[in-house]
Amino acid sequence: MTLVARSSALSDIGLHRKVNEDAFVVAPPLFAVCDGMGGAKAGEVASGIAADTLKAGVGEGLPLLEAAEAANAAVYARAEENAAQTGMGTTLTAVVIEGDTGHFAHIGDSRAYLLRDGELQQVSEDHSLVGEMVRDGRLTEEEAAVHPHRSILSRALGTESLARIDEFEVDLRSGDVLLLCSDGLSGPVPASAIQKALARDHPTDVAARLIAEARKCGGPDNITAVVLRLEDAPEACEDVTEEQTLITPVDEGPAAADEAGRDPAAEAAAEPGPAAAPEPRPSRAAVRGLGCLTLLLALLVVVAFAGALTLSTVFFVGVEDGRLAVYSGLPVEVGALHLHAVYRRSPRSYEMLQPFERRLVDDRSLHGKAGVMTLSETLGMWP
Ligand code: CA
Repeated sequence: MTLVARSSALSDIGLHRKVNEDAFVVAPPLFAVCDGMGGAKAGEVASGIAADTLKAGVGEGLPLLEAAEAANAAVYARAEENAAQTGMGTTLTAVVIEGDTGHFAHIGDSRAYLLRDGELQQVSEDHSLVGEMVRDGRLTEEEAAVHPHRSILSRALGTESLARIDEFEVDLRSGDVLLLCSDGLSGPVPASAIQKALARDHPTDVAARLIAEARKCGGPDNITAVVLRLEDAPEACEDVTEEQTLITPVDEGPAAADEAGRDPAAEAAAEPGPAAAPEPRPSRAAVRGLGCLTLLLALLVVVAFAGALTLSTVFFVGVEDGRLAVYSGLPVEVGALHLHAVYRRSPRSYEMLQPFERRLVDDRSLHGKAGVMTLSETLGMWP
C-alpha cells in the first residue's frame, strides 16, 4: 500500500529566546526536525547545516541513516574549523515515508509521536541525561519533567566524529498522524494536549494549535512542529504537501535564558553561602615586574572576580587527583593563584563517568549551593 502525507510545519521562537535555533525539513518523502545547541549563534548554525545536509543526502538517494551520518560529519567538521563554534551540536529526528513504512533516524531529545486510533505514542527514545535516568529507574517521568538538568543531552549530532544514531521503522496505516517536534513543544505541553491537537483534521490547524499551546504554557524555548497526516494514495502516487510556514519572531519577550533555562549569576546571588577563596592582593613588586599591559589587565579581572566573590558564593564541580569534588569559588587559575577551594570531596572518580557526564564536569559551570548539590547527585557523587 502506498500512503501519502498531508503535512504542515511551523517553527516559533517562543517567548524567552532571542534566536530560533530549531530547523525543520519538509521535502517529501523526507520530514525532519533539528534543535541546535551551542550558544553564540552556533546552535542555529548546527541545526541549519544538519537540516541542509540531510535534505541533500536523501535527495541524492542516500539511505536515511547515511544522510544523517553525513549531517553529523558536516556539523562536526564546521565545529572543528571554527573555534567559536566548538562543541556545537543538534538533535535530529527524521522520517522518510516509503510505501506504508516510516523509516526513522533519531538522535537527541526531539521527539517523534504517532497518533493512531486516538492513542498517542512516543516512538522515539529521549537521548537526554534525564531520559537515561528514567530508563535506569533513577527518576520517574514526573521527576524528569521538572529536573533542572532536563535539557542536557546524552547524545547529539555533530559533537563527536561518530554519532550513535537510532534507526527504526514503523508500519503506518491510513489515518495515522505523525508529529516530529523539538523539546520546546514536548517539554511544556502535556501529552493530553498534544493528543487532542493531533486529532484535528488539517495538519496546518494541528501545527498552529500546538505552537499556541506551547506559548500558552510559557513558551520557554523555541517551538517546532512537523505534522504528517497519512492517507491512502489517490491514483497519482505523489506525496502532497499542504503548507509549510516558518513563523518569524513574533514576540521577543524578556531576555533569553541560558541553554538550560537557568541564570547562574542570579542563582548564585540568590543563595549566599559561606565565603570561599580569599581576595587576592597582588604585591607591588609583582605589579612593577609585569611591565606588560595584558598581565595587568588579567590581574584587574582577577581582582574584580574576587570582589564579586565577597558578595556571593558560587560553586562548581571539578576534579581533584582524579576524583570529583564540589568547589566553592570561581574556576579561575592565574599562575599559583586559585580562586576556589574544595568544598566537598566525592569518592567517585572522573574516569567512571559517561562521556556526557564528563562534559557536565568539563564545562565547570557555576551554580548556587542548591544547584551544585543537584548536579552532584545527578553525577552520583554521594553513594
Ligand atoms: Ca530546544
